[in-house]
Amino acid sequence: MTYRGMLNTTDAADIRGLEQDSDSFDSILVHQHDMQRAMATIQIQKHGHAHRPKVVPSKQTDLGAVLAKPVNIHRFHSLAKCDCDLTDSPDEPKVDGDVELSNEISAPYEVPQFPIEQIEKKLQIQRQLNEKQSGTSRGIVVGHLVQHSPSSSEDQLSVGGEPTRNDADINFQRVSISGEDTSGVPLEDLERASTLLIEALRLRSHYMAMSDQSFPATTARFLKTVRLKDRLDTSTGKSVSDIIRNMSVTSLQADMQARQSLAMVVDPWDVEFPPDENYIIKPKNGVFHIYKDETLKDELSFQYPDLSQFVNDMHVMCNMIADGPLKSFCYRRLCYLSSKYQMHVLLNELRELAAQKAVPHRDFYNTRKVDTHIHAASCMNQKHLLRFIKKALKNNANEVVTLTNGQPMTLAQVFQSMNLTTYDLTVDMLDVHADRNTFHRFDKFNSKYNPIGESRLREVFLKTDNYLNGKYFAQIIKEVAFDLEESKYQNAELRLSIYGKSPDEWNKLAKWAIDNDVYSSNIRWLIQIPRLYDIFKSNKMMESFQEIINNIFLPLFQATNKPSEHPNLHRFLQYVIGFDSVDDESKPENPLFDNDVPRPEDWTYEENPPYAYYIYYMYANMTVLNKFRQNRGMNTFVLRPHCGEAGPVQHLVCGYLMAENISHGLLLRKVPVLQYLYYLTQIGIAMSPLSNNSLFLNYHRNPLPEYLARGLIISLSTDDPLQFHFTKEPLMEEYSIAAQVWKLSSCDMCELARNSVLMSGFPHFIKQQWLGPNYFVDGINGNDITRTNVPEIRVAYRYETLLDELSNIFKVNQKCGSTTSIHDKK
Ligand SMILES: [Zn+2]
Repeated sequence: MTYRGMLNTTDAADIRGLEQDSDSFDSILVHQHDMQRAMATIQIQKHGHAHRPKVVPSKQTDLGAVLAKPVNIHRFHSLAKCDCDLTDSPDEPKVDGDVELSNEISAPYEVPQFPIEQIEKKLQIQRQLNEKQSGTSRGIVVGHLVQHSPSSSEDQLSVGGEPTRNDADINFQRVSISGEDTSGVPLEDLERASTLLIEALRLRSHYMAMSDQSFPATTARFLKTVRLKDRLDTSTGKSVSDIIRNMSVTSLQADMQARQSLAMVVDPWDVEFPPDENYIIKPKNGVFHIYKDETLKDELSFQYPDLSQFVNDMHVMCNMIADGPLKSFCYRRLCYLSSKYQMHVLLNELRELAAQKAVPHRDFYNTRKVDTHIHAASCMNQKHLLRFIKKALKNNANEVVTLTNGQPMTLAQVFQSMNLTTYDLTVDMLDVHADRNTFHRFDKFNSKYNPIGESRLREVFLKTDNYLNGKYFAQIIKEVAFDLEESKYQNAELRLSIYGKSPDEWNKLAKWAIDNDVYSSNIRWLIQIPRLYDIFKSNKMMESFQEIINNIFLPLFQATNKPSEHPNLHRFLQYVIGFDSVDDESKPENPLFDNDVPRPEDWTYEENPPYAYYIYYMYANMTVLNKFRQNRGMNTFVLRPHCGEAGPVQHLVCGYLMAENISHGLLLRKVPVLQYLYYLTQIGIAMSPLSNNSLFLNYHRNPLPEYLARGLIISLSTDDPLQFHFTKEPLMEEYSIAAQVWKLSSCDMCELARNSVLMSGFPHFIKQQWLGPNYFVDGINGNDITRTNVPEIRVAYRYETLLDELSNIFKVNQKCGSTTSIHDKK
């Protein structure tokens, strides 16, 4: 099943397109004439049911009737007029532009006559908005002082001292479906789909809770209503919700500590050192365990899914994504979400725009955005690297930079050996930019990391561990960081490599960061682990896969156990937010494995283990490490792998089960079940359409606009500015091209920017400053338009739509009283 031929969802105004493509939609649009029979109607509801006017102006009724016979339009108001009323302050002198605005966008024939009680209500909302705006400056302080209880977000109590607003207070035209709840599929299919989807949601919530990663509160609330037998937690007797609640409390506490330590000190490397412990850390079946003494009898037991459990869950999920009726169901829901969004934009675009115009000071340029997927070794653009190399050649020509066959070589000698002078150097000669020849050639793309095709230059300029101890690389990154700080609103999560080929990599990396003082408040680190076991093995650098695990994770456990013995690493880890797994996903592999798969110490083959094997062992060790660090009051990590860029779709199942969010996710377009699950669990996806365009998928085929329309949590990221971008602000270049090609509105762009902050690993208190003190609350209470520039209408629409989808699924499950899990069904 493919999504081609679907609507171009961003082009909402293209009504012609809507008509042409309508037969690919489900019954809602197609069988308009059968609607009476099918008992389904689309209602475009304007908010304010309680204040429905008794007399509807005749012109509006006519319009409504003419526009869509089967469509039941309760009321049809001028789109623009009420928003101006809503957002213009009555107390403040009106700015010229605002006055013009209301004249401009309300055509005379649209001017509505509001009943008096409606005007009253509007004025009330207006007052609330004004109060909220005047309290913004105060908001930051409030956000800092109030300690949040995450349960309040779950229970919709008042948060951050602000009165809780109801989403229904937001005034816009809502699209909703009434009638039978079959979602266009037979009832049995719906019930079955519901059971399967709930099982899948439950699985993810387990994996997230165990590893201390986030799970959306709304979906968790729905899950709480289902009392399924808890396979994983029978031993502790804890429910999912308990785990979720405990998790968020503690991680917020740890965050508060981090905030305090950050707020008080000026030196970012001056961090608190908890007292050392004497635990014994030993791997068992590829996962580290923490024992209280040498006898290895008594251990700190931290739960993680063992390999057989994981294999089992993978099989469950893989069967699920191949299940025919479930595929149809999810595909229909996704189509519905696309068309619903199109209707939403059609009806509310002007209101959204007007709401944005009404916010003083804030626009797309000064909303915070995070580049959620960018590699440190390619975070500068080609011109920047060229300038840097020329500068180094001019100023440090006689500095010894490398050893060749044991002979020290200066920078000048390196360039002499290549017959090059500063004058010769151009961007063309550097040849680091991706071009037509890299499409579907990841190998060629990888070699683009070598300036002038010389791996020696890559080593000198783009590595942390070289003869100069990464001096040049640190300088370049600091220059990039300086540019980000200058722009103030752009931030980046740079990936640094740990290969797992030797145990001292971590300490060297930490020493590099601290000795060169590579720190910026606009930057956080992710650690990327390339899947290179086969290379190390064929070069006889290691015996088994276990050695990679030891090299990657043992230093982290040791630094957590005895921080004072690994001071640099302990400091550096404060700014590390998680792990990434990188390499060419399209390499052939056997994506499914069973319980007989050798454990890491027995994986001594020449062959590389499959993607799932890598991710599972990263996840399992990270889970134990997180619990251990949490116990010690330290920050925890998340898993954010490259996933679904190419290769088998099973990678996306791994991502679904184990990753907090993923990069790329292109292949979700081929797997409706997974795409729908990624939507329901609001998994962040960092997409890089320009990178895809050079490597795997042409720009115009990129599914980003479709995902965004459906409500998946998408952010825009650059991946490799060195290879893909031309300007000094690669992230803005990425936004700019996306906006042009897909005709994104300012509201879409601000939503993308907000998503990028939400899914990023920046600490809680910084997100509060950027998005508002209650950013973690679902729905409009979590949005502060004066900081995010995302209209409440958009946020309310997204939230209500998610609630609708979830209730749709959970309602059926409760109705048929099904508490059977998928295993019983089979
Ligand atoms: Zn990447």
